[in-house]
This record gives sequence, C-alpha cells and structure tokens, in this order.
Amino acid sequence: MKLIFLGAPGAGKGTQAEAVCAHLNIPAISTGNMIREALKSGTEMGLKAKSYMDSGALVPDEVVIGIVKDRIAQPDCANGFVLDGFPRTIPQAEALDNMGVKIDRVIALEVSDDKIVKRMSGRRVCESCGASYHLLYNPPKVEEKCDKCGGTLVQRKDDLPETVKARLKVYHEQTEPLKGYYKRQGKLYTVDGQEDVADTTKLTLQAIEA
Ligand code: ADP
Ligand code: ZN
Repeated sequence: MKLIFLGAPGAGKGTQAEAVCAHLNIPAISTGNMIREALKSGTEMGLKAKSYMDSGALVPDEVVIGIVKDRIAQPDCANGFVLDGFPRTIPQAEALDNMGVKIDRVIALEVSDDKIVKRMSGRRVCESCGASYHLLYNPPKVEEKCDKCGGTLVQRKDDLPETVKARLKVYHEQTEPLKGYYKRQGKLYTVDGQEDVADTTKLTLQAIEA
C-alpha cells in the first residue's frame, strides 16, 4: 500500500503516519525528519535547507524530490510506504507521478488553524532521535526526556508561534491545492482530526481499509 498523508503543520500527520506504518508494517518516510537529519550531520544539503526551514518556508522542490526518489528506491519500500510531508507542492506531486509511483490513497487530515496554533506551542521533539511529544496530549513518561532513547526534549525553532503562522500560510497557498489534485485522481480520503490521538487513528485506519 502506497499512501500519502496530507495536512497542515501540526495536524498530526507524523503521529498518524507512524501508527499506520506500525499497523501495515511498512516504512514511514518523513521528509521533515530526513532534512533535519541531514542538518544535524552537517551535510551540504542540510546546511542549505536550514534557512528555509527556520523561517517556515519550504525547501526547494528539486532538493526534496531528490531525497524522496532515493529513499523510495530502497528495498524496504518495495511493499509500500507512507509519505509524511511529501508532496507539499503541485510540482512535487507531478514529479512523483512522473517517477511512475502508483499512489493508492491520499489521507487528508483536517484540523482548524486555531487548534493548530494552540497545539504547536505544546509540541516537543527529542533532540537525539526525533520522536515527537506533546505536553498535554502525548506527554513523555519522564518530564523533558524521550521515552524511546532518553534524549532531551526541545521545542523546534519552527514551532515558535510566529513561525507556525508563516507555515500555515505556506500550507494554504502551496500544499492545500494538492487536495484538488488528488481528488481529480479519485484518491482523496478526508479524516477529521480528533482531540484524542487514538480516535484519529481509528478514523484513519477506516479511511485506509474502506
Ligand atoms: P510539519 O509537518 O510539522 O510542518 P515537517 O517536519 O514535515 O513539519 O517539515 C518541517 C519543514 O521541513 C517544513 O516547514 C519545510 O521547510 C521542510 N520540508 C519538509 N518536507 C518538505 C517538502 N516536501 N517540501 C519542501 N519543504 C519541506
Ligand atoms: Zn529520543
């Protein structure tokens, strides 16, 4: 099964993608995480991406398209995958189609901008492994420490309120048109994000299995 998760920053795509991947036993491919990894290891690509990311802008299409192309060619992607955070623009979606990748379904996770701004202030990520937490909705067992690896939890620079607003603007302008793009291909399934993560996962699995 080849799936795409679409949604505003902070709508919970990443969390849902991971739940679905565990259920279907396929890898989650998060372009955001991959770019942050490249940044941490100081690669040229990572350094280039940093200024875009920190300001809430998108990294140029050709950079992200290259990353995804290499990743989905890996053997663990042969039985399917979930793309989390890609495509984010029409040219990225066209590039995916042109690679001959046959996407089965696109899950659009809907959460209002108001809720997102509130949620993002509580988001924390593990400095070491990138796992995501929320102070209210998904708190770590030990305060400020990662459950998975014990790393320190930090707030991402691009989760600061002003940057979140900039990212939402970018989402509405550049990413939301993808809903129409995939609707025309008959692949779009909409899921309303719930307060509770597990409730959202139920709806997401229904959309995938329906
Ligand atoms: P979120 O889904 O919470 O916005 P991500 O971790 O997916 O966060 O992305 C963080 C940042 O990484 C984006 O704001 C953007 O700068 C960059 N990025 C990730 N995926 C893409 C993509 N497909 N195209 C362009 N930039 C991307
Ligand atoms: Zn960790």
